Amino acid sequence: MKILGKNRVNRENRWYVEHFNDQYNRLLVLKESTKGEARQQIEETLEIIANFIFDDEQDEIDILGALEEEYEMSDSIRDFIYLASPIVVGGPIERTRRYISVPRLSDSDFLDIVNGFYKDCTDREIYTLFRANYKRRKKLLSMDRLMEIAPSPQSIFLPYGKKTYIRMKRYGVVEDIFDLVHEYGHSIHFSTNFDMKMYENNYLFVEIVSIFFELLCMEHLISFKEFEDATLDYRKQYYNMTVIKGRNALIEDGILYFWLELRSQKAKNIIGRLNSEYSKYCEGKTIADMLNMNISTMFIYVVGYVIALELLDAYKKDKDKGLYLLKKLMRIDWRLPMEEYYRRILDLGIEPNEHLSDYKNYIMTPKR
Ligand SMILES: [Zn+2]
Repeated sequence: MKILGKNRVNRENRWYVEHFNDQYNRLLVLKESTKGEARQQIEETLEIIANFIFDDEQDEIDILGALEEEYEMSDSIRDFIYLASPIVVGGPIERTRRYISVPRLSDSDFLDIVNGFYKDCTDREIYTLFRANYKRRKKLLSMDRLMEIAPSPQSIFLPYGKKTYIRMKRYGVVEDIFDLVHEYGHSIHFSTNFDMKMYENNYLFVEIVSIFFELLCMEHLISFKEFEDATLDYRKQYYNMTVIKGRNALIEDGILYFWLELRSQKAKNIIGRLNSEYSKYCEGKTIADMLNMNISTMFIYVVGYVIALELLDAYKKDKDKGLYLLKKLMRIDWRLPMEEYYRRILDLGIEPNEHLSDYKNYIMTPKR
């Protein structure tokens, strides 16, 4: 029997290790006597757990190696980088800088709000999918208040048994609600449609559904007096965070092109010139800082946002139509090549960025 992840048993993911350890060993045994689709699901589940628990060793690489890696990482998304332009060009929204508090909520009040959102704002089909995971929350959900180094909220979907393990820190702010709604969005999407190919082919589109639910939940919470101000502000903040992610993605794209031109030069030259080029956009920052930001990963949140906004627009005009489009989008085959997957989104009549400026005006306009 294998004992998982000794080196990864720290406070941040002990919870996962505890939950996955037994399962991993049980599934290893079960696999032998299982056939067909169930066996495939078991194999995929073992692979996901193993990737999460075992893959800890990172080779030390130098900056040029990291650039090479980042270039390859962003290779497949380069053709879509233009999707970030409209939101970046439009720039951020001005916010009031005051701290807006929300009522202290117990865990059960907090969960009631998330449950109420899915109940009131979706339909029976989506709500059923939500409930399937939510009902098992004692086992599948961890909301640690004490976590010191809090990782971003995270969910891991296991195909065998369609279980989504969700882990997040509760700060007691309004953001907590959106975080959990977001993670349950992944659960709904993946229990409808999951394929390991998703990670290879269409990782770029993995955040659309979750961000849609998050944006929709913002609209929902504004009608609660006690959350109104905090949500109005958070909606702007969320927009601005996406502007920053988009800007970083465009800058990095330019830097990687520049790096391609310089490639034949001496290492020291390359780094010097890249650093000075990068500091034109991000003063005081170096290429090493850029590489630490995980920009190609952040870009998927920009794509998710500009497509989710179109779903939100459709929903607000006609709830049924909006949910119909959402469900169509959830079912697009993950195995398709990226270009083809994107084509399917457009075929639904969803045009990324079409209503971006309408939305910006809408959230900028004072409510009272
Ligand atoms: Zn997500």
